[in-house]
Amino acid sequence: MSESINIGKNIRGIDSLDSDEWLWCLHCEKFFQGKELCSADESGERQSCPFCGTSGYGVDIYNWDDWCKDKNGNRKEHWPKEDSELNSGMRCQLGDMSPDNVSVIVFED
Ligand SMILES: [Zn+2]
Repeated sequence: MSESINIGKNIRGIDSLDSDEWLWCLHCEKFFQGKELCSADESGERQSCPFCGTSGYGVDIYNWDDWCKDKNGNRKEHWPKEDSELNSGMRCQLGDMSPDNVSVIVFED
């Protein structure tokens, strides 16, 4: 059974995530789940990547498939197709970090 993880205030105005939500870290390029987020301080807000310690949902940490499309809207070939393919710590490189690609992040709220 999943629970809600308190992530505190962040840039997207979302303050909690589902513990089973799959996330991806922009810095170490690894997948992990909401329940693996670490606290950066004693506030109880869990914002940090369990692998590299970078923090910030919507800044450095994203829902796993937010980065899966190229600038033409096509799913990146090397990106996992389903969350069932993901493992905690599995690394998937973003590849092209050009501004064109960054601009096509798809957020579904
Ligand atoms: Zn990381």
